[in-house]
Amino acid sequence: MGANEPGQPAVTDPSLSRDLPVPTSALAVGAHPDDVEFGGGGTLAKWAAAGCVVHHLVCTDGSKGTWDPDADTAALVATRQVEQRRAAQILGGGDVTFLGRVDGDLDTSRATVSDVARVIRTIRPQVVLGHDPWKRYRLHPDHRAAGILVCDAIVAARDPHFFREHGLAHHRPDALLLWEADEPDHVEDVTSTVDTKLAALLAHESQFESTMHATADDQLDAFRERIRTRLAGLGAPYGLAAAEVFKLITDL
Ligand SMILES: [Zn+2]
Repeated sequence: MGANEPGQPAVTDPSLSRDLPVPTSALAVGAHPDDVEFGGGGTLAKWAAAGCVVHHLVCTDGSKGTWDPDADTAALVATRQVEQRRAAQILGGGDVTFLGRVDGDLDTSRATVSDVARVIRTIRPQVVLGHDPWKRYRLHPDHRAAGILVCDAIVAARDPHFFREHGLAHHRPDALLLWEADEPDHVEDVTSTVDTKLAALLAHESQFESTMHATADDQLDAFRERIRTRLAGLGAPYGLAAAEVFKLITDL
């Protein structure tokens, strides 16, 4: 749901961190179908092209992602899963796990943290990406909850005495990247993957009206232009043609 668009403050200190080494595996955790593509699609596509195995975890079913009051929401859920898998393929492959929580009702209960931690322990990603739970003035509760979930689940996944019922070895990722960051301090050059990110975003056809604000081709062109302008603006302080920015946490 427009997670990273309109975006976030640009990183203006050019000494701050830039371009992580390409990880062997990455797990991106989004509240809804399309949040991962908005938040880090360019970075994930770049890494996938360099051999990183990318995994997606989508927390909710996306059943409220329409402005049509008469929509068949069961059909919408199925459509959004197809769209999400197609978007993941466009970004360079990788499996998609759907947690299946109801859109708008994502919680940060022990059971939900356990579910996310189990995915982390199963996939054992080197880098995890997710929503920044500390983003100020954010309205959507699922984006806040998904951010808290990813942080709490990393703590649970890394420590062996949390959720011993998983029967899985603990796992500590090397880095966490938070998109729509309140205080971004890390930049990824996505010059080579802007088109891929846009193609992945446009796989979410059911969201054209509610998220891309597009009901006609020229409005989709305007959406593309908005994203291009946004990524160019984020890259400009670094001399990059396009960038995505994050809060980087390595003290995990
Ligand atoms: Zn969303």
